Amino acid sequence: MLKKDFLDILVCPKCKGKIKYEAKKNAIICNKCRLKYHVLDGDIPDMLIEDAEKF
Ligand SMILES: [Zn+2]
Repeated sequence: MLKKDFLDILVCPKCKGKIKYEAKKNAIICNKCRLKYHVLDGDIPDMLIEDAEKF
């Protein structure tokens, strides 16, 4: 589980905008870029654009 204060400083690497953590999917979502970043091992966000999934 990601900590909220950590999420507050995380931004989308593509648009530098705010991201949203979806606990249910264990993924970080950027609604602007429509990209889904994976969270590895439950608490390590993989914020690489090339690893992100389009949705
Ligand atoms: Zn973005």
